[in-house]
Amino acid sequence: MNPLRSLILAAAGNDVIRRVVATAPVSRDVVRRFVAGETTADAIGVTRRLVDAGLTVTLDYLGEDTTDEALAEQTVRAYEELLDALEAAGLASRAEVSVKLSAVGQLLDENLALRNAGRICAAAERVGTTVTLDMEDHTTTDSTLRVLAELRGTWPWVGAVLQSYLRRTEEDCVRLAGAGSRVRLCKGAYAEPAEVAFPDALDVDRSYVRCVNVLLAGDGYPMFATHDPRLVPIVDARAEFHGRKPGSFEYQMLYGIRPEEQRRLAALGHTVRVYVPYGVQWYGYLMRRLAERPANTAFFLRALTSRT
Ligand SMILES: Cc1cc2nc3c(=O)[nH]c(=O)nc-3n(C[C@H](O)[C@H](O)[C@H](O)COP(=O)(O)OP(=O)(O)OC[C@H]3O[C@@H](n4cnc5c(N)ncnc54)[C@H](O)[C@@H]3O)c2cc1C
Repeated sequence: MNPLRSLILAAAGNDVIRRVVATAPVSRDVVRRFVAGETTADAIGVTRRLVDAGLTVTLDYLGEDTTDEALAEQTVRAYEELLDALEAAGLASRAEVSVKLSAVGQLLDENLALRNAGRICAAAERVGTTVTLDMEDHTTTDSTLRVLAELRGTWPWVGAVLQSYLRRTEEDCVRLAGAGSRVRLCKGAYAEPAEVAFPDALDVDRSYVRCVNVLLAGDGYPMFATHDPRLVPIVDARAEFHGRKPGSFEYQMLYGIRPEEQRRLAALGHTVRVYVPYGVQWYGYLMRRLAERPANTAFFLRALTSRT
């Protein structure tokens, strides 16, 4: 992994740095680039704008690593409120939700996370949309895949996320490439040790392409989450090779990143889903976005040191 990226991800866990960043005035401007806002109304407003531009959406109520049952409960209620609001706005057919199990109690008790995620799935089913379980650091992968399997027993449309930086992921793709399976493939955003993850970016990309082939050759619905200008045309070419028509797979990108590319792909007839985070707990999310792009970080640090 790029040393700057490891450094930023390590610094993200430091309490002093967290306080400085979370309270600095400049943070707000940078946050606004990547986060829709703090309220359900903000999330609905951004979703409306993206849907009107021909895109689809997956919404993430920000929060992670909850060790407080009351906070996990609050997260479930926020998703229920959001799903009702999507229905009321007539947006539920174009927008689903992404859920981090660690935000609904996974660190406290896997069964609590299962029950809470089940309540969000039930709410999604009521309004006619779907849920995807985000994937977090490698210590949670097995637990998340267990919860996914349980949920899919009742709601077969629950989506999984697999990360190509993990050495295990190609095999996980084989297991999850069956009919009805929705799988988001991304590179992975956490600082992981070399025993479990490829340290070299080129190996992560090669793994991504192997996984693209496995998922496209399968009978499921793959969701390719990447902004990488080298990988997008490769996905396109492999989809054609495997006889996949637009609509039998989708592209996904993050809110605020390569918006013109999102619109270009949608104009070609592809389903493009934008991952839209919102809520007050934006810190961990912002740090992972900065870690991915040294240019953003330099800009952010310069602004931070000149204005605080
Ligand atoms: C829809 C979606 C859902 C995701 N869900 C998860 C998840 O559940 N778990 C998880 O671990 N990770 C998740 N990720 C994050 C993912 O793992 C990567 O960390 C992130 O997408 C960056 O990887 P990349 O494929 O874009 O390639 P990179 O190698 O990071 O970037 C390739 C190129 O993309 C462009 N680019 C990338 N980032 C930026 C940026 N911040 N600003 C401007 N340009 C940029 C640049 O041109 C860059 O050279 C998700 C990503 C997306 C798009």
